[in-house]
This record gives sequence, structure tokens and C-alpha cells, in this order.
Amino acid sequence: MPIYEYECPECGVRKEVLQKLGEDGSTLSCSECGYVGLRKILSCCAAPVVKATGSPACASGCPAGGGRGFA
Ligand SMILES: [Zn+2]
Repeated sequence: MPIYEYECPECGVRKEVLQKLGEDGSTLSCSECGYVGLRKILSCCAAPVVKATGSPACASGCPAGGGRGFA
């Protein structure tokens, strides 16, 4: 399952959520202020894509993993 990152538009808190494909954040609530309807962040580095060349990279060209521990 992919991990998506969501941001609270009210207080700016971010959280990572394991979700099935196709789900959205409309029912997610902020752990800080309780706001419901978090905004999905397109966090490419959370899910590096392995290209045909074999070198992992995201679509926008940032370093794979972003230093977040993904090997
Ligand atoms: Zn919040």
C-alpha cells in the first residue's frame, strides 16, 4: 500500500497515511486541531519510482527517498 502525505490547511500539520489506491483525505482529520478534510501533498519522495534504468528516482527528478530512509 502506498503512503500518502496529508497537510492540514488549518494548522499546517502534516501526517503520513497508509491508504489504498483511490482513497482520498476527505475523511481524514487533523490530530492537532481536528479539522476534517486534509489536503493531499504530492510527496514524490515518499514513493520512489524505479525507472527502467534501474536507478530509483521520482518523476520530478528529486533524489530518491529524499533522505527519509527508503533504501
Ligand atoms: Zn490541523
